[in-house]
Amino acid sequence: MKQYQKLLLGFVLGVVLGLIGYYTLPQKTYPFMKTFTDFCTLTGAIFLRMIFMVVVPMLVSALILGVFELGKGRGLGKVASRSFAFTLLLSFMAVMIAITLTNVLQPGVGVTFDKEALAQNQGVISIQKNVTAAASKPWFQYFTDLIPQNPIDSAARAFGGEIIALMIFALMFGTALSFTVQDENNPLIKMLNTIFEASLKIIEWAMALAPYGIFAIVFNTTYRMGAGFLQNVAYFAGVVVLGLLIQQFVVYALCLKVFAKTSPWKFFQGCKEVYVYAFSTASSNATLPVALDVAERTLKIPAKVSRFVLTCGASANQNGTALFEGVVVLFLAQVYGLSLSLENQLVVVLMSVLAGVGTAGVPGGSLPLIAILCVQVGVPPEGMGLILGVDRFLDMCRTTLNVSGDLVISRLVAGDTMDEAISSKEIAS
Ligand code: ASP
Repeated sequence: MKQYQKLLLGFVLGVVLGLIGYYTLPQKTYPFMKTFTDFCTLTGAIFLRMIFMVVVPMLVSALILGVFELGKGRGLGKVASRSFAFTLLLSFMAVMIAITLTNVLQPGVGVTFDKEALAQNQGVISIQKNVTAAASKPWFQYFTDLIPQNPIDSAARAFGGEIIALMIFALMFGTALSFTVQDENNPLIKMLNTIFEASLKIIEWAMALAPYGIFAIVFNTTYRMGAGFLQNVAYFAGVVVLGLLIQQFVVYALCLKVFAKTSPWKFFQGCKEVYVYAFSTASSNATLPVALDVAERTLKIPAKVSRFVLTCGASANQNGTALFEGVVVLFLAQVYGLSLSLENQLVVVLMSVLAGVGTAGVPGGSLPLIAILCVQVGVPPEGMGLILGVDRFLDMCRTTLNVSGDLVISRLVAGDTMDEAISSKEIAS
């Protein structure tokens, strides 16, 4: 059985058995289910931590090496500006899809709810606390926080919001190296290559565990939530998923065809392992090592391009998140019967594009930004309580698009000069 089939099997079994368990073996009546879900938590955590532990070494080595290679050939400016242009274009397209679908399909019209209960929702209260803390910062602090005072400290707190600062350090360090080191055999370059290769090895081991890890994570999620979480907001969730599908199969497919002159279908086939992985973990950062591996080995994207684009994109290019933010804000405006002026809809577009750039690539990373966006356009942020039940599922879907977007941009930046390496033969192997 091929690796992606094993991943898919783990995923499908997790959903099916999780749902069966939810409806027939509730934990209150069947205490052994507690032991089983604990065992799943352990398996899922071991698998995730094997990946998480290489995120920092891989991100730093990949980005420094990518920038060093590009800087030496003086190709950095071109790759960076193309990546930036595609990021803006694709995020903008994603938000426009969100705005159009939500205005046309009106998922929030007629949704009834208990306003008082919503305001007491613990999830909403904690998001609002974060927003208040963020709002108390002066504006320039956002910029100074991007530059790390101590990169070791940023590395240690990479999953606590410091990953962008770490990336800035790696970008600057790689650029500096390209000016100071001429020789490929320089010991530091060799060492960074070795760190990268060894990290890939750990990913290989983690991938052997992946079908079980994914089963465990998905089983626990569905066993906890059942299918009932969709009831109230199924239509809203449907609109989000439809938007994500349009971005993936229309926008990305067209871009691959037009700008890279490559077959979108073959490209998507080559990425399927990454999709299953992003869906199961709901984290772009956790999927980064797998994406780097697939980009180099399966998609054959030149390492210097994929390392640069994917590592930056894991935090800075999140089309699925941008689309989701647009739908949520307009949905909540409809729920509260507010009509957003054209000016406010423009604010939603701009802020959603920016939020796609600034969201942490971790599960639920976009929630605080959605709350800020709601406040900005006069939509009550406590309305987010309505969607929290369905958020984990939608997070899995939008993260898949986020990571897919990074891979698409790497291919677009690599250009149509790249060998047509994604031949069916290579994908099959
Ligand atoms: N979970 C998403 C990611 O990691 C971020 C978000 O939209 O919450 O890409």
